[in-house]
Amino acid sequence: MNDIILSVENAVMDFGGFRAVGGDHGLSFKVNRGGLLGLIGPNGAGKSTTFNLISGVLKPTKGRVEMDGIELSTLKAADIAAKGLGRTFQTPRAFPSLSVIDNVLVGADHPEEGPIAALLGRWRGPDKALRQQAEHALERVGLADRLHDSVANLSGGELRMLEVARQLNRNPRILLLDEPTAGVDPNLQVKLAEILTQLHAEGTTLIVVEHNLAFLLNLADRIVVLQNGALLAEGDPDSIRRDPAVISAYLGA
Ligand code: ADP
Ligand code: MG
Repeated sequence: MNDIILSVENAVMDFGGFRAVGGDHGLSFKVNRGGLLGLIGPNGAGKSTTFNLISGVLKPTKGRVEMDGIELSTLKAADIAAKGLGRTFQTPRAFPSLSVIDNVLVGADHPEEGPIAALLGRWRGPDKALRQQAEHALERVGLADRLHDSVANLSGGELRMLEVARQLNRNPRILLLDEPTAGVDPNLQVKLAEILTQLHAEGTTLIVVEHNLAFLLNLADRIVVLQNGALLAEGDPDSIRRDPAVISAYLGA
C-alpha cells in the first residue's frame, strides 16, 4: 500500500474572479496514511475551502484531489463519504427536531436516505446494535447524559462534539475536522485531544484545521500552512514553530 492516502494536486478554487485556493501555481500537498496533519493559516487563507474541495462539497476550478489513487474531484460528496472520508464543518450542523442520539443515528442505517427521510419526517429510527454504537460514540465525546435531550439545548461547543460523534459513529478512514476546539470548553478540549490521540493510534488519518495552535502543534505530526490560498510552509511542528515566514504571517508583520 502506498503510504500517501490523499493528495491535493495543483488545486485551484475560484469564486467568480476571486481565487480562494491555489495562488499562482495551484495548491499541492500530500497526506500520509495514518498521519495527523494540521492545516493552519490566517483567517481567509483557504482552509475550509480546501476541506470543501477534498470532501466534494466544491469541485475545483482546476487540479484534482486523489484518495488511494482514485480521483475524488469528479465524485459527489456522498460517494466520497462512502469511500471512508468523514468531515465536520466549521459551523456545526444538526437536525433541530431530532434528539442528540437521533442526530448521530440519522443516516447511519441508510446513509443516502436517512437525512432526506428526517427532513420529510419519515425517518423510522435504527436497530438496537446501531443505537448502542451511537451511544458509545456520544460517550466518547462526553455527551452520554444528553442522549435524549433536544439538540436545541446543546451549547455551541457541545454541538461541535455532536458532529465529532456523528463522524466517529461512521468510523471513517480519513477524518477532517474544521476548528474542532472553537467554542468548546477546556474540559471538552481535553476530551477532544484524547479522542484525536486515540483515533491516531488506531490508524485513522486525520486532518485538523485549528486556530488554537498550542492544541494542534502538540498533536500533529505534520503541519501545512496556507496563506492567501497558497502553501506558505510545511513541515513538522517544531520547524513550523520556528519558521520566520509562518511567524510573520501570524503576527501580520
Ligand atoms: P479559512 O477557512 O482559511 O478562514 P475560507 O476557505 O473559508 O478560509 O475562505 C477563503 C477565502 O475564500 C475567503 O476570502 C472567503 O471569503 C472566500 N470564500 C469562501 N467561500 C466562498 C464562497 N462560497 N464564495 C465566495 N468567496 C468565498
Ligand atoms: Mg475556515
